[in-house]
Amino acid sequence: MILGYWSALGACLLVAVAVSFTPLGGAIDNNVYDWLLRLNPPPAAASQSALLVVDDASLTAIGGLRHLRGALAGALERVAAARPAAVALDIMLADEGDPDQDARLEQALRRTPNLVLACDMTPSGWQEPLARFRHTAAALGHAHSRPDSTDMVTRQIPLMKVAGPFDRRWALSLEAFRLARGVAQIAESPEDIQVGSVTIPARASQGRPLRLRFVPALARVSLKDALAATAPLAQFTGKTVFVGITSQTAAQDRWMTPVSNGLPMPGVEIHANAFETLARGRFLSEAPATAMLAACLVAVLAAGAVFWFLSGWPAYAAGAGLLAVAHAAPALLFSRDIVFPFFAPAAAAWLAVAVSASYQHFVVRRLLRKTEIEKGRYQQAIRFVTHEMRTPLTAIQGSSELMGRYNLPEDKRKQIAGMINSESRRLARMIQTFLDVEKLSEGQMELKRERFGVLDVVGVCIERVAPVAERKRITIHREEMAEASLTGDRELMEYAVYNLLTNAIKYSSAETTVRVAATFHGGTLRLRVTDQGIGMDDKELKRIFTKFYRTKKAEASGEAGTGIGLSIVEQIVAHHGGRIEVTSQPGQGSCFTLVLPASAQ
Ligand code: ADP
Repeated sequence: MILGYWSALGACLLVAVAVSFTPLGGAIDNNVYDWLLRLNPPPAAASQSALLVVDDASLTAIGGLRHLRGALAGALERVAAARPAAVALDIMLADEGDPDQDARLEQALRRTPNLVLACDMTPSGWQEPLARFRHTAAALGHAHSRPDSTDMVTRQIPLMKVAGPFDRRWALSLEAFRLARGVAQIAESPEDIQVGSVTIPARASQGRPLRLRFVPALARVSLKDALAATAPLAQFTGKTVFVGITSQTAAQDRWMTPVSNGLPMPGVEIHANAFETLARGRFLSEAPATAMLAACLVAVLAAGAVFWFLSGWPAYAAGAGLLAVAHAAPALLFSRDIVFPFFAPAAAAWLAVAVSASYQHFVVRRLLRKTEIEKGRYQQAIRFVTHEMRTPLTAIQGSSELMGRYNLPEDKRKQIAGMINSESRRLARMIQTFLDVEKLSEGQMELKRERFGVLDVVGVCIERVAPVAERKRITIHREEMAEASLTGDRELMEYAVYNLLTNAIKYSSAETTVRVAATFHGGTLRLRVTDQGIGMDDKELKRIFTKFYRTKKAEASGEAGTGIGLSIVEQIVAHHGGRIEVTSQPGQGSCFTLVLPASAQ
């Protein structure tokens, strides 16, 4: 039962972990993550970035994308005048444009402080800005985000991307952050990267992902407004300015995010949010996979233990508490900036609670039914015994009356006295047997622990049954007789062996042979009693250890019996750490073997 219970719980663990890797588990984890992310906004602080966006209105105003570079040059000059901390341009400048506009843009870029230009990874390597633009930049940064492969929602960006061997780029936002902080070099270790005094947890093994903490609203100025403004663009002073296209028609990179609300977010805004995440310095780090597995294991073990040790409402209350903890844990950890998967531990807890609760429910039910059956059997036993007792009692009663009432001849009196004596003995034996059965089955009978030789026991029993055997002219034949020592209760063991021998004799016809053999190999004693008697079929064999069961043939044989003996034998053998094996054929005979742990003499 223990094994079944815990293997069912083991299966819960496997199912929960396996399903957590399916799209369903991933989708639930993502949803919970998005919800927690919205619930835990980044620490409130003045934003350190601002957006200069090319929106639809700006495109219309400047006359379309063809005039973008010229217009950008004008706007960037105004941005530079506002003295920003850094400027990140999320617009690819890889191809030649109108020469006049390119020249103007180059001029404007030269005057832009701490400029980061975007580069793009293509299958053939990095696509970089034209040399004339590249030379104006303090750094190049990649402009990629990393949408989730299952739902295409952008929750993180790779801080580093590698095209070909060793040709790697930091993210646009990271380079802008470095420049804004006046740091010359990004230091890295396998677990994190360091920009000045800021340590960013981003494992190299996973491409250094940065989970974004989206900020509610960033200051934004459209290109059109920037060009039209008469006053200096104070929004950009001291800020890191992210410049990019947000126009519905022209922006190619727009992604859903956890805060999207149905509207995808343009790439430039995602980069600005990455920058804000870096600048505010509270990073989300992922709990290791082993922690998730450990949590699942703990959930399953706890559920298993709760329903194993408790029952009724305390068990259900504890189970509900466990579920509450499993659901709340990711939220608690998230508030401490640890991203912990929701699905696997919660599913493990649910499954384990459901399985262990129903398991216990049914087992308790089964136990109840069993005790009811046992109660019924007990009543039946009482009825049986009282009925059986009536026969010797009537005999005793009648005989004693005879003796008292009449003056009987001496030999008749002796005969009646003998009968009274044997009947009362039978009565005593019946009572003793009945009490023994009850004590044994309730575990009240104290087992002695002594060492005794098996041959001695067999010898005593054979001697005791010899007169009965003689009466039926049955030969008891001793075959191989290996000596071995048993440890336990000698008296009970004698009872067991004696019972097998009397049965063999009782259920055999006259002039047959009962064979007894004892073999001892590798610490196991096999004590065999074989007869040539009435035998049993397979169906009967299955029931002979049930209390009060007797086969039809046994009843018909006219031999007295109670159907209790073998059930006691079975318990005695079990108490000695052994078992009993039976083979039999109707009309051919039976073979009872006691298999017991023993030691050499
Ligand atoms: P009892 O012999 O008092 O009826 P037991 O518990 O010793 O009770 O045996 C249960 C039943 O198993 C017997 O009634 C008989 O039907 C069957 N049985 C036991 N031993 C033998 C045997 N050696 N050969 C045939 N039947 C047997």
